[in-house]
Amino acid sequence: MGFSTARMPRLRTSWERLEESHHWYAIKANSNLKILQHLRKLGCGAVLVSGNELKLALHAGFDLTKCIFNGNGKILEDLVLAAQAGVFVNVDSEFDLENIVTAAKFAGRKVNVLLRINPDVDPQNSKFGIRNEKLQWFLDAVKAHPDELKLVGAHCHLGSTITKVDIFRDAAVLMVNYIDEIRAQGFEVDYLNIGGGLGIDYYHSGAVLPKPRDLIDTVRELVLSRNLNLIIEPGRSLIANICCLVNRVTGVKTNGTKNFIVIDGSMAELIRPSLYDAYQHIELVSPTPPDAEISTFDVVGPVCESADFLGKERQLPTPAKGTGLVVHDAGAYCMSMASTYNLKMRPPEYWVEEDGSVTKIRHGETFEDHIRFFEGL
Ligand SMILES: *Cc1c(COP(=O)(O)O)cnc(C)c1O
Repeated sequence: MGFSTARMPRLRTSWERLEESHHWYAIKANSNLKILQHLRKLGCGAVLVSGNELKLALHAGFDLTKCIFNGNGKILEDLVLAAQAGVFVNVDSEFDLENIVTAAKFAGRKVNVLLRINPDVDPQNSKFGIRNEKLQWFLDAVKAHPDELKLVGAHCHLGSTITKVDIFRDAAVLMVNYIDEIRAQGFEVDYLNIGGGLGIDYYHSGAVLPKPRDLIDTVRELVLSRNLNLIIEPGRSLIANICCLVNRVTGVKTNGTKNFIVIDGSMAELIRPSLYDAYQHIELVSPTPPDAEISTFDVVGPVCESADFLGKERQLPTPAKGTGLVVHDAGAYCMSMASTYNLKMRPPEYWVEEDGSVTKIRHGETFEDHIRFFEGL
C-alpha cells in the first residue's frame, strides 16, 4: 500500500499554468516535503494553520513574504513564531487580535495582518472570521496598536469543494467594498485574499471544473480596479487529483446480500469517505480475467470500525486476492489526515515522473518508529 503522486498527466498541466505569485498553497492539504519544495520552486507561497506548518514552510524554503498564518484558534506560542518569521497573520476574532498584539510585543516586531471577514455565504464556515457589523471594532483596535499591527489587507475563505467561480466573484465584490471602507479610514491596504476551496471532479464525470487560473480570471478586473494584490489559497485543486492510494485486495467476502472487497488500505490512511461520506473513485488496476463477474461491492479496510470503508456500492469485476486497487484523487486531505489507528503505520509515498520512473518521497512508517515514543520512559 502507498500513496503515489503525479500519476496522471492532466494534473501536471494545472501545475504548469500556475500564475505563481498569486498562488499561496494551503499546506494542510498535503504536506509532503518534496511536494512543498516542488510548489515553492513553481513560485507558490504558503498558507499555514499551525506552528509546525510554519516550521515546515521555513524548512521547504518558502518566501516568508508569501506566507500567511490562518486559523480561528491560533495559540500564542505559534503566533510568536509567526511574528518572528515575519509572515502575514489573519485576524480571526477579538481574542485573536489580542494574542497577535501580545505576540508582536514578545517578538519585538510589527505584524502584518489581514482581517478575515466572514462574507456569510456558507453556514458551514461560520466559526471562522469576523462579521461585518464588527468591522469598526477591529479597525479601531488596529489603530490603537500602531507599534504592533499593520493592516495590509482583507481575507475571506468561502468553504470547500466549490465547483463554480461565480460565488468568488460575488465575494470579491463584497470584499472590495470592505476594502474601500477600510481605506476611507486612512489604512493603506494592498492585499485581497480570496481564499481557496475549489473543488475537483471526484466523480470522474468528465465535468470541467474551474482551476485556480479561472478563479483569478473571474476577479482580475475587480482587483485591478482597486490596485490590489490578489492572493488565492488553493489546496485541494492543486494536488488532489494528481495522487492516488494504491492498495492490494486481501480478499472478497459476502455477508447476506452484501459483497465486500477487503483491501489493505483503510480509513486510517484515507478518512474522507468515513468522515464526510465523500465519494472517491475506485478502480482495479491489475489485469482481471475477462470472465470475472461484475458485482456490487462495498470496498472496505481491515480497521475495527463499521465506518471503515473507502467506497460503497461500486460495480467492479470480482477481483482475485492480491489484485491492485486504486483509490483516485487521494492527493488532498488523505495522507495529511492519516492516522495510525489499529497501529496501521502510515504508508510510503512515491513520485511518478512523466517517463514512468518512480522515486520514494516519504518512508513508510514502521513499528520501530512507533516504539521509539516510549523509549526512556
Ligand atoms: C483549508 C484552507 C484553504 C484550502 O482549501 P482547499 O479547499 O483545499 O482549496 C485555504 N484557505 C484557508 C483559510 C483554509 O483554511
